[in-house]
Formats: sequence, structure tokens, C-alpha cells
Amino acid sequence: MTMKVYVKNRPKNRSLKEIRSVIKFMGEKLKIDKYSVPTVVVVKFIYGMRKKSGCLANCIWTDDNHRPREFEIEIDYKEKWPKKTLDRVLIHEMIHVAQWTTGRMKDMMSPPWYIRWEGKMIPSFDMDYYDHPWEIEAYGREQGFSHKWKDYNKKKRQKKAT
Ligand SMILES: [Zn+2]
Repeated sequence: MTMKVYVKNRPKNRSLKEIRSVIKFMGEKLKIDKYSVPTVVVVKFIYGMRKKSGCLANCIWTDDNHRPREFEIEIDYKEKWPKKTLDRVLIHEMIHVAQWTTGRMKDMMSPPWYIRWEGKMIPSFDMDYYDHPWEIEAYGREQGFSHKWKDYNKKKRQKKAT
């Protein structure tokens, strides 16, 4: 397992273990943990993010636009985050992490706001958020992974009980 997970400004009702376990689960499922250079994921909760940017969460690379290995998942800070909702948000953002690590998605930097998606240049600024191919994929897959995550935890609990 080569993945490092850090959490900053954690909501009071969610444990570090809870947040780490869903990130690691997704890392394994999406093979983000297989690289020789460890993938670093920093989950950062930000006060008033939604108010300021209109967005609840996002995922950005922080090291290099070419095959990045370090990411920051920014999430709106709430004193109390419901577990199910937070898990789902993290699952969604981890799908984006995998899009970057595999190189299927690449931030072109120049011209700015162009994203290369599976070999095609996409002017991300010129499109509706929900029409971005990476969002179509992330929204499409988050449901399936949420089910898998639920099953995984159910099996883990059953194992403990027996
Ligand atoms: Zn997204």
C-alpha cells in the first residue's frame, strides 16, 4: 500500500480513521496505491468554501500537472458532516484522483483552463460543470462505489461478529 492520507481541519463528528478508511478503500479499488511513488492525498476542510466558491468539494493536484501524485481534496467545513454524505463526497473526489494519476485527465496549464481528457482538448471554462466528461464519469461511478463501500463495511462487521 503506497498511499499517504492527511486530514486537515477535520469536522468534530468524524474520526480520522473513518476518513482514512474510505480514501484507502477507493485507492485500492482504483489502483491508486500501486505506484512506486506513493500517492499523497490531503483532505482539507475549509470554512465557508461553499459560500465563497459555490462548490462543496473539489480535487486539485499540488505537485506537477504531468502525472501528478499529490492531491488536495478541498471540502466545505461543517461542524457536523453526516457520514454517508461525506463518504459519498470522498468517493466522488477519489474518482477524480484516479483520473489524474492514470493520465486520462491532464491539466494543460497552457492554454489555461484546457484539460486534456483521453487525448481530447476540452475547454473546461466554456462548458457547464455537469457536461465535463470527468464529472459525468465521477457522478456515474460514485453510486456503484458507494454500494461497494457499504458492502465492504457490512462484511467487515459480520467478520467481527463471528
Ligand atoms: Zn467532480
